Amino acid sequence: MDISTIFDQAVERYPDHIALVYEGRRWTYAEWHARVSRFAQALANLGVRQGDRVAFYVSTSEASVTTYFATQMLSAIAVPMNFRLAPAEVDYILRDSGARVLVYGRALTDNALAVASGLNSCHDWISCADDPAEVPEGHHHFEALAEQTQADGAPRVPPPADALSALVYTSGTTGRPKGVMHSHANDVAIAMNCIMEYRLSHRDTALHIAPLYHVGGMQAYFIPHMMVGGTNVVMGRYDTLKTLETIQAEGITTLFAVPTQIQDILFHPRFRDFNVSSLRMITTGGAAIAASTMERVITELCPEIYNGYGMTEASLTLLLHPQDALARLGSCGRPTLISSCRIIRNEPGAGPDAIVPPGETGQLIVRGPQAMSGYWNKPAETAKKVRDGWIFTGDLFVKDDDGFHYFKGRADDMIVSGGENIYPREVEEALYRCPGVQEAAVVGLPDARWGQQVTAFVVPAGGMAEDEVAAWIKSSGLIAGYKAPKKVIFLDVLPTNPSGKVVKHELLAKYGKSEAA
Ligand code: ATP
Ligand code: MG
Repeated sequence: MDISTIFDQAVERYPDHIALVYEGRRWTYAEWHARVSRFAQALANLGVRQGDRVAFYVSTSEASVTTYFATQMLSAIAVPMNFRLAPAEVDYILRDSGARVLVYGRALTDNALAVASGLNSCHDWISCADDPAEVPEGHHHFEALAEQTQADGAPRVPPPADALSALVYTSGTTGRPKGVMHSHANDVAIAMNCIMEYRLSHRDTALHIAPLYHVGGMQAYFIPHMMVGGTNVVMGRYDTLKTLETIQAEGITTLFAVPTQIQDILFHPRFRDFNVSSLRMITTGGAAIAASTMERVITELCPEIYNGYGMTEASLTLLLHPQDALARLGSCGRPTLISSCRIIRNEPGAGPDAIVPPGETGQLIVRGPQAMSGYWNKPAETAKKVRDGWIFTGDLFVKDDDGFHYFKGRADDMIVSGGENIYPREVEEALYRCPGVQEAAVVGLPDARWGQQVTAFVVPAGGMAEDEVAAWIKSSGLIAGYKAPKKVIFLDVLPTNPSGKVVKHELLAKYGKSEAA
């Protein structure tokens, strides 16, 4: 089974059902499929063939999802790019993936032109400008290709299940983004897993505010809703007020939001002005969510919240279900239906059999039909990440006696202070309980005496000073004294990468030197 076949089948079952909503425009499955087919034909006319990479650097929009499914109809490989990337980063991905075509958004024209010069692998440039007059010379116009091309109805040959469907680049939280190879079989497995876990049906209407260029947005959310004939509502630029308005106006039933977006919603001054009762579930993930935030969601936003843990390399791996959420706050739940998971000793060279008992922290490894085929063009990194069929996540977890997993942080972020291991996540969880804290990130800054010093970077919620937050944690009884931050530093915003994740190495680079001096 492949992604274009599941699209065809959704159209056969639900031709008149609304498939896609974007900026007030709506397409039924039949209408959207016809548009995607025309655009696929246009790409074929440009010479795109099976296995060619088609990159897109366009904000989340109808154009981005239409491009995605057009590539699937041609057995070409989709290369979605984060539209917030800078020209040099786009250039890197275009070269790394060897993209033949780039589809780019209107607001990104200058960036696209900046990378266009000097790239010779990329043959065609497709602009998504509204006005054809804005399309640079020598480039194609998306709208013209999608509307004026005649889909000639040539029979499509479905790709074999192990053919690549997409190259999805990781967030680049720990270094340069890596192109994760997803096959059709991977992506169909991911979709079915999510449909079963979230019990999706054609009656669901999903709102997409999380990025569709990540696995969490496209493979684990958009495609599953499409597979069951549901409605996908795509929001262009993410905006908190617009999110609330859209939930109410479209009767949204399922929402995937990263933890920062959930914070934005809960802290929005007009949050209570909207009727969000159509929401039957919210799912979050992609980064750790504070237990205190989960609690607020349950009581104030939607009682059914899932917390999913996953990565580009393995998609949804662990899931905390709403039935367990209150009793296991702070947990990422248990392995999803198709995932095998183990926690092994966090030591170099430890293999899949070095399993640690419940209660002991170690590295999570995962295996299942959703696991990536490897990193594009990176055999050495693939060999490090995948061993004996297991993906070594690089994330630390502890499991309780009932099999619920608790995230302790990335192995590389673990702090060793005075010979004691300190897991930043535990300290962050405590900080999120403090009334003076809106957001928190904990790192170990170099320290001559202790090796590393626990330091908390905090976006304040107002009402407390830095040393008051430090004192609050110390006397809170939530964590042992040696784990309490020696220093609290207030920032207006935490540094994040284009996916919105906190980049701790930037905090280390900026504050580590002056602290050590
Ligand atoms: P890179 O691999 O390029 O450094 P990245 O690891 O952030 O970037 P992604 O694949 O987008 O790239 O993110 C996966 C990571 O996000 C996981 O390895 C984990 O560290 C974190 N993560 C995902 N979901 C959760 C969650 N529910 N709780 C805590 N952390 C999470
Ligand atoms: Mg990673």
